[in-house]
Amino acid sequence: MAAQYGDRPAFRALSLPHLDALLARAGLDAQDRLRARAVAEVLPFRTNAYVVDELIDWRAAPDDPLYRLVFPQPDMLPRADVDRVAAMLRDGAHPERLREDVREIRLRLNPHPGGQRDHNTPLVDGEPAEGLQHKYPETVLFFPRQGQTCHAYCSYCFRWPQFVGEPDLRMASGDAEGLRAYVQAHPEVTSVLITGGDPLVMSSAVLARYVEPLLEIPHLESVRIGTKALSYWPHRFLTDPDAEDLLRLFDRVVRSGRNLALMGHYSHPRELETDVAQRALRRVTGTGAVVRCQAPLIRGVNDRAEDWAVLWRRLVALGAVPYYLFVERDTGPQDYFAVPLARAYELFREAYAQVSGLARTVRGPIMSATPGKVQVDGVTEVGGQRAFVLHYVQARDPDLVGRPFFAAFDPDARWLTDLKPLEGAAALPGLG
Ligand SMILES: *Cc1c(COP(=O)(O)O)cnc(C)c1O
Ligand code: SF4
Repeated sequence: MAAQYGDRPAFRALSLPHLDALLARAGLDAQDRLRARAVAEVLPFRTNAYVVDELIDWRAAPDDPLYRLVFPQPDMLPRADVDRVAAMLRDGAHPERLREDVREIRLRLNPHPGGQRDHNTPLVDGEPAEGLQHKYPETVLFFPRQGQTCHAYCSYCFRWPQFVGEPDLRMASGDAEGLRAYVQAHPEVTSVLITGGDPLVMSSAVLARYVEPLLEIPHLESVRIGTKALSYWPHRFLTDPDAEDLLRLFDRVVRSGRNLALMGHYSHPRELETDVAQRALRRVTGTGAVVRCQAPLIRGVNDRAEDWAVLWRRLVALGAVPYYLFVERDTGPQDYFAVPLARAYELFREAYAQVSGLARTVRGPIMSATPGKVQVDGVTEVGGQRAFVLHYVQARDPDLVGRPFFAAFDPDARWLTDLKPLEGAAALPGLG
């Protein structure tokens, strides 16, 4: 491996054509390989040589958490769907027929959860502003057109509709001036969150075209960039041809007097074990940017309290700030990856209890749902009924933020919409 990772390793993507050989390396038999390939026809597959050579422990595959982070699992989708697509692959079905079937399966997978499309796209001159979401008064989300891919794809990703090239499922914009004008016209917006995909797959020059105009807006206080590049391709910050330009851009944002936050997606402590991953993180914080970290809780990837505790401690040691532990959203292969809320809460608490106050900046488990971000605070008893205690950390309706509320305890509930009010109580806030 050392030869391959010289001073300036070049990014090398691995995708469908490489999948069968990699599945064989993980020890899958012919039938499971066919089924995993069928899944990869529906949900996008992409990884890269760094993830494959440096992060995955192949001796432990296919159970290795980092393997499970990026590789399609043969039983990730409903059995009937996998069987159907696998049979088509085996029999060499006509590409057009395969495409139609795959499309039909995708549309059943709730491609835009959390009411993303219907509720959050603002109107500008009566037209929906593509690539913009304005859900919470202070924060605008922006999806740059060139940032709608990632250095590798997480098997559980809820942004997958952005990657699969079905025009109806995508939402993105190339309009840097539209973004600037929107924020300028909305004094309540103090924070812009650039997201994707991964905005750091864009060249530094393209990213700068979106970011720099924002620095002219006096009421803008922070710029956030959601990224998994620190984990999937740390060379982006070290030796890529425009790594220096990227760091200079970060430096300019910081010197403009704004908070620049990289919202680093870290799923597992192993992502911080490589020397390049550690150097990349240090390099970013060296510009004055803050790295805040978040990830969903995923069955078979990071569903051990110990892993979260180690992850948060490592992050703090390297100067980063733990931010959110998310509950996996109600989209795509949720059935496969979900951890019930009751279990997620126990696990969060167990991990939280093992870290110092410096890592207790983390909040979780958090559901990013249609009315807002809801945290599960615990399980208690109210008037003889077992109950979840919850509160909104963020809400479309700011009046809901920070007020505790109850829901009937249900050991199997996995999402806000699975929860019911206590007997005799009104509807849950935000859902009434
Ligand atoms: C999480 C999120 C934000 C940012 O919320 P913070 O609580 O400020 O981190 C903004 N918009 C959407 C749609 C989000 O899901
Ligand atoms: S890095 Fe984020 S957007 Fe990219 S595949 Fe993973 S979860 Fe999806």
